[in-house]
Amino acid sequence: MTGSNTTPDEATSERPADPFKPLGNETRLEILRVLYDHLQSASREATLSYSTLRSEVGVADKGNFNYHLRQLDGLFVERGDKTETTTDTHSSSNSDSRTSTDSSLDGYRLTFAGFEIAKVIDVDAWRSHEPCGPVVLEDPRENPVETSTNETDDEPTAQDPLTATYEDSVVEIRRGDDLLYAHAVRPTGAAARGMAVDELLDTASTLWRHTVEQLLENICPYCHAPIERTLEYTPDRRWEHTFSANCDECGSLGGSHVGIVAITHPEAIAFCWDHGLDLTSTRVWSLPFVDDDAVTVLSDEPRRVRLDIEFETVRLELVVNDDVRIVDTERVCRGES
Ligand SMILES: [Zn+2]
Repeated sequence: MTGSNTTPDEATSERPADPFKPLGNETRLEILRVLYDHLQSASREATLSYSTLRSEVGVADKGNFNYHLRQLDGLFVERGDKTETTTDTHSSSNSDSRTSTDSSLDGYRLTFAGFEIAKVIDVDAWRSHEPCGPVVLEDPRENPVETSTNETDDEPTAQDPLTATYEDSVVEIRRGDDLLYAHAVRPTGAAARGMAVDELLDTASTLWRHTVEQLLENICPYCHAPIERTLEYTPDRRWEHTFSANCDECGSLGGSHVGIVAITHPEAIAFCWDHGLDLTSTRVWSLPFVDDDAVTVLSDEPRRVRLDIEFETVRLELVVNDDVRIVDTERVCRGES
């Protein structure tokens, strides 16, 4: 949203040292709140006249008010479209200049950044909350679609229970001590759901699905810059076949098991739907193919793997390249290969 033609280096050097510094004042926060309330009540007509704004913020000293307005101007607040007859600028701390024109036509509104800040404050987005859990989850590995009943001795932690917690605004799914999934859920939304773990899990799963979709579409979920994805082999972790995502602006975005790439692919969605599994609503940690057992390495350089989604008599094979894209699909009857 910050449409800039600058290079990353230039953008970094122009970035204010502390973008929140202008917000460290009650009058300025009140200016944002009044403009936000106006936006909420006035639908698309978001611009509020200077005189109304000052009146509602309740600062009698015009020079003082102008000073605080100026600290927000350009970053969190901008001039509206109602300024056609006004020639002075509010950046002048000399309040007398303003009286020479009709300042009631001089409107202000929130910038997108101002709107985001005001929204976060308004919904108390990151309030503290009581932790929930851990709760033990239904485990897809206890009733595998595949016939992998032979638990191997060299995998002693395979039977660790799958558990969920909600703590410090994050829903985490673990097997034993290993963190498999984590996604933030705003405490406001959690409170509105009565802190019910079951609903928090559905919420977290949906948010996580959307995050994965953005990563697979090359969009950083935080800054919306393009990202890079890498297929990885991580034998030291719970999952060996993973991918990671990285944003030039935000750094590491984490990653997941490579099997998760199937959840947005139309062939996989249709195949699973035909066999009674809805990929668009099943909790991501319940998907049987998000597991190393479903992965076959096809080549190391460049890295390429095959992901198998299996039902009783048929299998969908998905080829994933080193850019974590599904580049080939094939349905085969089991026993054919
Ligand atoms: Zn980013």
